Amino acid sequence: MNIFDSKNRSALLASMAETHYDLVIIGGGATGAGTALDAASRGMKVCLVDKQDFAAGTSSRSTKLIHGGLRYLKQLEIALVREVGRERATVHRLAPHLVVAEKMLLPLIKGGTYGRFSTSLGLMVYDVLAGVESADQRVMLSKEETQQREPLLREDIVEGSGLYAEYRTDDARLTLEVLKTAATFDAHCINYVEVTDFLYNKKNKVVGVVCEELLTGKSLNIKARQVVSAAGPWVDELREQNKSLEGKRLHLTKGVHIVLPHDRFPVKQSVYYDMPDGRMVFAIPRGTITYVGTTDTDYHGNKERPRTNLEDVEYLLDGANRIFPSVNLTVEDVISSWAGLRPLIHEDGKSASELSRKDEIFVSDTKLISIAGGKLTGYRKMAERVVDRVAKRLKKKFDLEFGPVRTSKIDLCGATTLANAEAVKAYQKRIEAKLLPLGFSVHDASYLVHNYGEQTDPILAHFLAKENKTPLELLRSELWFGFSQEMVISPMDFFSRRTGRLYFDIASVREHKDVILEDFRTHFGWDDARFAQDKAYLEQAIEEASTFPAGRLPEAKGL
Ligand code: FAD
Repeated sequence: MNIFDSKNRSALLASMAETHYDLVIIGGGATGAGTALDAASRGMKVCLVDKQDFAAGTSSRSTKLIHGGLRYLKQLEIALVREVGRERATVHRLAPHLVVAEKMLLPLIKGGTYGRFSTSLGLMVYDVLAGVESADQRVMLSKEETQQREPLLREDIVEGSGLYAEYRTDDARLTLEVLKTAATFDAHCINYVEVTDFLYNKKNKVVGVVCEELLTGKSLNIKARQVVSAAGPWVDELREQNKSLEGKRLHLTKGVHIVLPHDRFPVKQSVYYDMPDGRMVFAIPRGTITYVGTTDTDYHGNKERPRTNLEDVEYLLDGANRIFPSVNLTVEDVISSWAGLRPLIHEDGKSASELSRKDEIFVSDTKLISIAGGKLTGYRKMAERVVDRVAKRLKKKFDLEFGPVRTSKIDLCGATTLANAEAVKAYQKRIEAKLLPLGFSVHDASYLVHNYGEQTDPILAHFLAKENKTPLELLRSELWFGFSQEMVISPMDFFSRRTGRLYFDIASVREHKDVILEDFRTHFGWDDARFAQDKAYLEQAIEEASTFPAGRLPEAKGL
């Protein structure tokens, strides 16, 4: 059974209720997805549930960089920088279409915290810790070279720069491809299923979860030898439910990104620059837009739908206008935005920006394992640590034997025939040869290849069989793929987590939403009430991404 075909949902749910799993994972963000793939590929029988769509938590709301976290060097988090720095090349190898090398420019500011020598040294240490190949290691640029590389930078205070290697990605798609790859090892993964309680045995150990299937309201119990909570910002809620919330707790901070049309903020390349308060922010060009972020502020509001407010936008615009003075950006230029919550581990007396990004594992007396903190970039290593623990317990308690981690050798879905960046380039050329004669652009081809990798082939085959070869029909072929291969259940799954259009091409969402909504109605046989609910929810999401209220926001419930 193809469990990612949204039509197979009932059969999948029936199978979940009947199976006794080795491992049930709560949360389909990057951490849970990585855990599912690691465990399933070692031979465990795995089930993963998410109460929202996959990646709808923090894992679709990051800066979308696979990076070593240069700034953690400043905080002397050497082990963290080494681990995530080294992971960059591994994750790139597993999905070269989705994790793409990107040079980052770090301007040296007159009177700034770091001069040429300390920046050069810092970047060198970063390269060494991350094991960056010599051809790719940092170079220091003169003032003139910096201006050539990024003419928008302010001439009077920028004295030169460091240029170093990072990778960019799409966090939600990376999470999804990890989950789809887990499914090839027989993992059962499902969205819109919420864990509401735990099942316990007579010795008060967790032996499964009580769930509610949110589309129908039906409840189901899932039995498991081990339960792992990878619930991101919700980890403490589940620990509380498990009556094991003691010791360290989460500290949530909100990070906002804003999106501007590239012709309004035409940076030639990614820049990592100083803010007046000493923080650092990225400006990243991507197709037809440039995005800027992030903020870092304590957060106590609604976890399902953190929102960008006016103060966040003004803070990011002020910083950009200071370093790129000719662009004169205003709130009216901001076309979209997203806000995410960092599930960090609280440390007394430390501010949002000072908190460690290290991951932490909690094991309760009832044997619930929870994992929180960490980085998208480190998802594979975090998963390895958790699954090692699970394997140890399954051996001790049930005498079940599982092999060691294998995930550094498992290509992700979409990349099984794309060995490296060169292969991706060649593949894109083949896609361009099909699309350009029909009036599509190189950007259209690049979008498809970087979103779907080699899965562009079935999407294009579906599209090319149609009479009308318009952008709308191509979008509908993506939707066909989403329905049949990616468990798309709601329009937001499609426009946000499968295609990224809500952020990177919000105009196309506005233009095509009505036709796409009708396709949902037809595909799922929605009645008028369900149609109206999803239409309203999509319209609200568009509104929330593109308008920025001042002050405290009313509580909102997510779908
Ligand atoms: P989440 O993605 O939040 O997943 C948890 C999931 O659990 C959610 O989908 C939720 O719906 C589900 N869940 C919760 N409760 C239940 C329940 N009761 N039943 C079922 N499901 C449940 N890292 C990088 O490496 N690079 C970056 O550039 C980067 N930038 C960042 C920028 C920002 C602004 C933020 C906020 C973070 C950034 N990070 C970055 C960190 C990274 O995004 C996170 O570490 C990572 O996404 C966390 O993933 P997760 O799976 O632990 O949590």
